Order: sequence, then structure tokens, then C-alpha cells
Amino acid sequence: KGLRGTTGALPMERPRPHFIQLVFVDINGIPKGMEIPITRYEEAIEEGIAFDGSSIAGFQGIEDSDLLFKADPSTYAEVPWEGIARVYGYIYKDGKPYGADPRGVLKRALEMLEKEGFNAYIGPEPEFYILKKNGTWELHIPDIGGYFDLVALDKARELRREIALYMPAFGLIPEVLHHEVGKAQHEIDFRYDEALKTADNIVSFKYIVKAVAEMRGLHATFMPKPLYGYPGNGMHLHISLWKDGENVFIGEDGLSETALHFMAGILKHAKALTALTNPTVNSYKRLVPGYEAPVYISWGYKNRSTLIRVPAFSGNGARIEYRCPDPSANPYLAIAAVLIAGLDGIKRKLEPEAYVETNVYEMSEEERNKAGIETLPGSLGEALEELRRDKIIKEALAGAYENFIAYKEREWSEYVAYIESRELPLETKKVTEWELERYFYI
Ligand code: GLU
Ligand code: MG
Ligand code: MG
Repeated sequence: KGLRGTTGALPMERPRPHFIQLVFVDINGIPKGMEIPITRYEEAIEEGIAFDGSSIAGFQGIEDSDLLFKADPSTYAEVPWEGIARVYGYIYKDGKPYGADPRGVLKRALEMLEKEGFNAYIGPEPEFYILKKNGTWELHIPDIGGYFDLVALDKARELRREIALYMPAFGLIPEVLHHEVGKAQHEIDFRYDEALKTADNIVSFKYIVKAVAEMRGLHATFMPKPLYGYPGNGMHLHISLWKDGENVFIGEDGLSETALHFMAGILKHAKALTALTNPTVNSYKRLVPGYEAPVYISWGYKNRSTLIRVPAFSGNGARIEYRCPDPSANPYLAIAAVLIAGLDGIKRKLEPEAYVETNVYEMSEEERNKAGIETLPGSLGEALEELRRDKIIKEALAGAYENFIAYKEREWSEYVAYIESRELPLETKKVTEWELERYFYI
């Protein structure tokens, strides 16, 4: 029986790895895992490997923390620079899928979509900075390039290529590599795929980027806003729904009715969704005017000032671009919530409001009010209040909902306490040391 999955199996002449990492993510989307000898791999697939979940962020308390990891062999890959293998999987508790397992949450959300006949395809655009810290939290910016800069201004070009060369071993197909707007900011886009695969890919991508940067003595950060006054790191999601092998977002002249209803569902739930797509205190330092990040709940064709952009497309490329998400999101939870919000729009046949053709940042408050354009939550605290009120997103997150809210409310109150101890205004958009310490490694 083949121990190797289809993903990234390396040439057969390579020695079989001695160890395999069993990897899942915590509530923050941070990969966690234990390593077992490869001889136990079969057992990890069939019976599962028990572990203690009490010290995993957002999982069980110590009084009831016995969990089981079951490997999903379709995700098997070998980590080329370490000579070990790694595999993702699902978590079980008392013989049943564990409710707060993010990958399990997405799987169930996708089953809800499948019940209506839909498959979701998603393509992400993760951005990151390559930085170092100078001893303290003063950040070293090793590169002065800007958008699309090349050669001398683009000091990390080799590092970017090295990342892209490692990606296929994990089943990711790199498509575009470029310097982003910020000094030392970069983007590598990879091929869209089914939603679950894309969520796995996002976890693998961050893992590769951080590992390669570390090997070169640098540090890659996916913090949404590491530097005040510089562009933030977004992770736009390009989304389409398919039925019987056809993209159902294709309309006669532009997007289909289904696509418009789906988009309307996302717009309707946008405020609660930010708690998932932008789940850190630092996320809200990115969502400010002036850096191509969204602030206003609106949509438009080709318009990069809106929350949802409908890119120009031909043929199967019909999709929407959701511009809110950032790479600090737990990709499983964020994608589950966004898809179920869209599905709600389809079921209720909602019509998208707040269409804009101009730059929404140039509209006055009065003009925005007239056009029915609302504002995204201004902080993690506000976003969590919205999430508390949203029944549909609660259903989407199932067993992770309460754990997520409890974990994030604690995070928010720790920040509030820090801000008060420093006598800073709660609305400050400056990036604090508290955030750098907490999120620099995210
Ligand atoms: N960095 C921008 C953001 O925060 C996105 C820039 C772009 O359009 O690629 O979302
Ligand atoms: Mg970009
Ligand atoms: Mg984009």
C-alpha cells in the first residue's frame, strides 16, 4: 500500500524520510505538530495518534484534553531542506470529529455548500515583509525597493525565487513573484484550487517562506501591519463557485445572478466576517485609508478602493476578489465563514448594495451614507461584537465559535490593558511593541 500521497512526492532515488510531522493548526492558524517515526505512518492514517490538546491555543481545557490526530494521506509532502515528511489531518475527540478543529470546521462548511451542489475554488494573494529586528523591537528594513522593482532595489529576489522553487514539493504551483509596494514587502501568488486545498496551501506557504527566510538569516513576517506608515500585508481571496464542473459565476454579460447573490451575502455579513478574516489587534492598523486596503463595505468592477472587486475576466476566470482578509487569519476558519456568508446570500437571493464606480476614499461621509456604504469594524473588539450577533457565521464555525470568541476576547482585553497602562488612546493606529511581540512570528 502506498505510503506516499500524491502531493509533492519527491523523486524515488531520495531516501525515505525517517520521521513524519503530523501537523494541524491552532485557533490562530499557527501550525503545530508532533513527529513520529515514519514506521507509524500507517497507524496515524488508520487509527490516529493520541495527543494532549490542553496547551494548544483555543483547544480543550486540561480537565478534558485527550485528542486524536488522524493523518489525511492526500496531503503528504516531504520537506526538502529537512529530509522529513509532513502530513495534515483531522482531529477527533471521543471517537467523533473534534468541533474546534479548524480543518474539520472548513470540511463541514464545504459539505454545507456541496448540499446545494456547489464546490468552491479559491486563489489567495498573500503578502509579507522580509525584516529583521535590531536587538529590540526596532525593525531592520533590508531593502529599499517598491512595487515591481528589480535588480539592485530588489534585495530579496533570490530568496523569493528559492521559496517558489520549494513550493511544488508541497503541492503549490507558484504563478507570480514580485516586489510589493512597501520597502522589503513581497508577494508570491500561487494557483487557485479547491477551498480545502487552498487553506492547506496557505499554511504550507507561510511555513516555506518563514523557513527559507530563516535559512538566510532574515525573518519573514505576515503581520498585517508591521510598520506604521508603510503598506500592510493583505491576503486577497479570489473566489468562484462551481457546479457539475462549470463555473456558476459566469453570467451572460459579466457575473451571474448566483455570483451577485453570493457577493451580497458576504457584504451583508462583512462586519462579523472581519473577526475571522482580520483576527488580530494589528489587523485593524492595516484597514485604514491610503494603502489600498479596504475600509468601506462596497463593491465595484475593477475598483481597488472597494471591499469586493470584480476583476475583468474572460471565460472561466469569473470570480470575485475579497480584499479584506490578511495573512494573520486562520485560513480554515476565515474561508469557512466567508463561503457560508456567501451561501446565505444565495439562499436568500440577496441583491448586492453599495456599488461604487469612483474611489470611495474620495467620497464624503454624506455621499457614502446616501449610497448605503457602511464602514468595517475599526478594531478587533468591535469585530467580535459583530461576530457575537451573527447567527449564520456562528453556524459556520460550529464547535470553534465559542473557543474563538473566548480566545480573541482575552487577546483584545490584554491589548486594552496595555494601551491603558501606556496612557495611549485606544484608537491609536500606531503599531505598538505589544503587537510586535505578539504577532511578529505569526
Ligand atoms: N497591500 C495591500 C493590502 O493591504 C494590497 C495591495 C494590492 O492590491 O496588491 O491589502
Ligand atoms: Mg498585492
Ligand atoms: Mg489582489
